[in-house]
Amino acid sequence: MKPASHLEDRAARAEKIIAAPENFKVCEGCESIVAARVVTCPNCHGYRFDEATERVVDQARLLASRPQQSVTSADLE
Ligand SMILES: [Zn+2]
Repeated sequence: MKPASHLEDRAARAEKIIAAPENFKVCEGCESIVAARVVTCPNCHGYRFDEATERVVDQARLLASRPQQSVTSADLE
């Protein structure tokens, strides 16, 4: 696995979100970007979301530019 692949994935995902922010929302609990149709956050099971498009775009840019915060399986190896 290439070291940069994670960041590239995130950048590609962020681009998709920024292109159509109305399809997404930001979880108030963990600040994840989730699909607008979900009822509870798949990460923290929160049910409070910010659906403002400018918030979604801001958050997508942030996620694309910073290292992953959550613990992944790779972090545990
Ligand atoms: Zn959440």
